[in-house]
Amino acid sequence: MQKIILSLIVLIVVISSCTMRMPSADNNFNNLAEKYVRLGLTIGQYDPDFVDAYYGPDSLKPVQSKKEIFPKDSLLAAVKNMLNEFKPFTDSAGNDTLRKRAIWISRQLTAFERRIKIFSGEYASFDGEATDLFNVKVPSYPESHYQSFVNELDSLLPGKGSIPDRVQALTSKFIIPKEKVDTVFRTAIEEARKRTKEHYPLPATESFTLEYVTNKPWSGYNWYKGNYKSVIQINLDLPIYINRAIDLACHEGYPGHHVYNMLLEKNLYRDKGWVEISLYPLFSPQSLIAEGSANYGIDVAFPGTEGSEFAKKVLMPLAGLDTSNADLYFKVLEVQGVLNYARNEAARGMLNRSMDEKEIMRWLTDYCLMSKLVAEKSISFIQKNRSYVICYNYGQDLIKNYVESNGGTENNVAKRWELFGWLLSNPVTPSDLLKTK
Ligand SMILES: [Zn+2]
Repeated sequence: MQKIILSLIVLIVVISSCTMRMPSADNNFNNLAEKYVRLGLTIGQYDPDFVDAYYGPDSLKPVQSKKEIFPKDSLLAAVKNMLNEFKPFTDSAGNDTLRKRAIWISRQLTAFERRIKIFSGEYASFDGEATDLFNVKVPSYPESHYQSFVNELDSLLPGKGSIPDRVQALTSKFIIPKEKVDTVFRTAIEEARKRTKEHYPLPATESFTLEYVTNKPWSGYNWYKGNYKSVIQINLDLPIYINRAIDLACHEGYPGHHVYNMLLEKNLYRDKGWVEISLYPLFSPQSLIAEGSANYGIDVAFPGTEGSEFAKKVLMPLAGLDTSNADLYFKVLEVQGVLNYARNEAARGMLNRSMDEKEIMRWLTDYCLMSKLVAEKSISFIQKNRSYVICYNYGQDLIKNYVESNGGTENNVAKRWELFGWLLSNPVTPSDLLKTK
């Protein structure tokens, strides 16, 4: 009997010490998470591209006005201290949720450190920067790899002359006339939205506004405003090809950036109170997940040939375009998708100063098959965003491999949506994707 009473007392002590310890660990962690958000917003006072979205409490915004000189050293010291403060959580096997959050924040902080250096003009190699900012090692391919895909195009394309010229000749027939751009885009977005809503319960108040802009280094952008609202901007500087309507509808909207941000806000910030999620720093591992999932989202919403079928049946007639060469056009686009990795090589050459301007241009026109105008845009994008280019292609492949190797194949679309939804609703870092679930 005495033994039972003693065991009971021990049990009560254990339970009460657990219940006492857990909330304090949570509180301690949440205070640290708030500190992380404050630090990010402080860096954003100086670096205008640092904060892509913030929808957390106003109380975490910097109270002091910014100093005249960028306080590089004190910011770097703050990042270092914070990494040490999260270390007990990343190393602890006790609380799995806090450990996951701590690992996610720590990888974001590694990116903060690198971005602070870049912003103050202290550069590293392309691969060094990409690894710190996006938590991945970027694959590199020799020129012969790209040449083999260009050779494939040579056998696909009609006519004579250089491959870039023949690609331009074919694709120029698929430009959306300016006066049809809005109608085509709205139709594509509505279809992507309808398909997404069949699989995910989206917040009832979700919406976006669509704007057309000029003089930008990108083709489209999603500005997430919080409370399940986005502003989607489409750049009209360059001609818009018919496939871009589906690509941008999925990438910027459904199930891309708009849905990703909404699911994070709903599931992690609002439902669980994870304040770190309310800050989206542009140059961070989160962007590799964001851009990669936004690009793979096209295959999620329009698996297999559904995108090209929808374009042929609905969008092209709407734009008044002739569909007779459409199959060839979409085949060429597929090969061009693989060649997109050549832009990473051009960026690597630019950042490492191993290519001069002429050589960078050659890679962009001969392998990425860009027109001179598009290549110039791409160069200005790389100058501004540096190794960010890897987020689109390598990010997409990481997401694709993760989803498809875990059963989300073209034949199992429901599983694909399920795995994709999990990725959009959890604190996932790119190196997590290299392991199987
Ligand atoms: Zn994007």
